[in-house]
Amino acid sequence: MAFRKIRTLGDPVLKKTAKPVTEVNDKIKELAYDMLDTMYAANGVGLAAPQIGVLKRIVVIDVSPEGNQPIVLINPEIVSASGSQTGDEGCLSVPGKAGCVTRPNEVTVRAWNLKMKEIEVKGTELLARALCHELDHLDGIVYVEKVEGKLHDVNAEA
Ligand code: ZN
Repeated sequence: MAFRKIRTLGDPVLKKTAKPVTEVNDKIKELAYDMLDTMYAANGVGLAAPQIGVLKRIVVIDVSPEGNQPIVLINPEIVSASGSQTGDEGCLSVPGKAGCVTRPNEVTVRAWNLKMKEIEVKGTELLARALCHELDHLDGIVYVEKVEGKLHDVNAEA
């Protein structure tokens, strides 16, 4: 288990575009596992590599209530999106805040898994929101740029 420091809003790394991963080697696997450890420790449902200062196209997500369904996506791309949902969104890089964002209600993402096999992940509702949010991080976009209205404070324990 290794935890990495989560970068917060204002850190220039969050505005940069991450580079594709060319090979899923042991170093990439270790990075992905560290990202999962870091996400779970912070009680998040998703984390993108730039949030720990690594400009590689890797995201981890787990929207299950029990926190036992980790998804690791390497070089993810949205291949289809439909519908829309509007609701509150938060980010580990913007602690204690949330804001209203409109996202597709259903998305399909194609990516490599940790075995460098191509997989497709289809998500609706919260998973669709998490996929869009985390993929945005790979292009240097933090959700605060998409917020409708103002950010508001959230209970840190929520
Ligand atoms: Zn985020």
